[in-house]
Amino acid sequence: MTKLEDIQNVCLRRGIVFPTAEIYPNISGFFDYGTIGTLIKRKLIEYWREFFVKNENNIVEIDGSTVLPENVFKASGHLKGFVDPITQCKKCKSIYRADHLIEEKTKKFVEGKSEKELTSIIKKEKIRCPKCNGELGNVRIFNLMLKTEISPIGGQTAYLRPETAQNIFTSFQRVFRTARLKLPCGIAQIGHSFRNEISPRHFLVRVREFNQMEIEWFFDPEDDKCPEFDKIKDKEIIILTREAQMKNKKEIKITAEKAVKRKILPNKWMAYFLVKEFEFYKSLGIPEHALRFRHMLLEETPHYSKGNFDLEIKFDFGWKETIGNSFRTDYDLRNHMKYSKQDLTIRTDDGKKIIPNVIEPSFGVERTLAAVLLYNFKDEKERGWAWFKFPVKIAPYISAIFPLVNKDKLPEKARKVFEKLKGKFDVFYDESGSIGRRYARADEIGIPFAVTIDYQTLEDNTVTIRNRDTKKQIRIPIDDLKEFFERILFI
Ligand code: AMP
Repeated sequence: MTKLEDIQNVCLRRGIVFPTAEIYPNISGFFDYGTIGTLIKRKLIEYWREFFVKNENNIVEIDGSTVLPENVFKASGHLKGFVDPITQCKKCKSIYRADHLIEEKTKKFVEGKSEKELTSIIKKEKIRCPKCNGELGNVRIFNLMLKTEISPIGGQTAYLRPETAQNIFTSFQRVFRTARLKLPCGIAQIGHSFRNEISPRHFLVRVREFNQMEIEWFFDPEDDKCPEFDKIKDKEIIILTREAQMKNKKEIKITAEKAVKRKILPNKWMAYFLVKEFEFYKSLGIPEHALRFRHMLLEETPHYSKGNFDLEIKFDFGWKETIGNSFRTDYDLRNHMKYSKQDLTIRTDDGKKIIPNVIEPSFGVERTLAAVLLYNFKDEKERGWAWFKFPVKIAPYISAIFPLVNKDKLPEKARKVFEKLKGKFDVFYDESGSIGRRYARADEIGIPFAVTIDYQTLEDNTVTIRNRDTKKQIRIPIDDLKEFFERILFI
């Protein structure tokens, strides 16, 4: 069993994340968050907002609809281009991504090849069904968007959005005007996206409904000055360049400034976001050696893009994109102008009429969570129970509250402490079982602290606080608890 599968089982047992509608025959690629999972997910999103929105300048948020009319996807290119080539086994009827099968067998990259070409490669290379060795059928194209009909009499086709980005482009003019934005500026959005993936797999890594946290960063193509660049220019990131990929070489570690100077990155804004993303993931407990930015090869890059850099994380099954960073130029706004016949240009301070350029960092919540679970998981070897070392910002609860024993007025006192803290912090009360077992249960869901009310509390109003990571305890007055947790969470 891989570590990720092990973690998936732990998540199931502890009710963190589990398959959707699991009492019915399985529909794969959909997951529900349980009590603990919901708290972690909310906190991860809030932490992201803090990092990329609240602490930044000139960026606002929107929250758009997940259902969008067909025209949006005609303009964005999804209707034509958001497709995967598939092939079906004639014997056992299993369906596969044709390009993946070919790439696994031949180690050759086949992105961009037509259905006909892929069919003939399958025949030539004698590729057969990996499950039953049956013959594979002709390759056909499959659109990954989930389709729906609006209105009771039908006739109006719409799609569940496959990315949050399009709402930002379609409402760009209104948001830009009403939020009184000026270039350079960003519009962010967090929300659900849907992709009818052919083979969902690796737990939360490839699912059919997921959450994205996206930023569209708009700037004048003739003026890509980045006022924030000085703050980050000496910070290092790890990049797998195109050259390294072609020559089978390793990643390089390089400062943002050098990466821009050497034209490895297209501009300072791209460098700025990559540095922030690197810092963000490190603060979530993902080690540097498991992070890299891969410059997508020319054949993988959309024709309109001036550079795509995927943040990849090393999972136990291999490297996987967790953030797509794309220099989308003015492609989306220009196309929406064309299809909607609306003017989406804006005027710069010096009166120029332009369509802004866009850099898009696109994060997946579920993939990020899978990486956070993986790298913060500690197996049973160390303590006798498996536990999570979640950073405090995203731990489901900041503290557990325990009476030492379930008698002698300790539970009553402990409940009072709980009542005092619960309106302000996510805290968890537990009085059942031995104190050792309760510490273990708190560790198991990654609670960073445990406050214990003991006999001394009844005399002097002090409690112990156990640190999950060091297992060390300190004693502090109940009256200082609020400040203690505030300092940990907000500084
Ligand atoms: P993309 O538009 O394909 O570059 O996707 C942007 C981000 O969305 C990726 O880096 C992932 O984190 C996330 N994502 C895309 N597809 C899926 C999926 N099927 N399951 C989970 N996350 C996904």
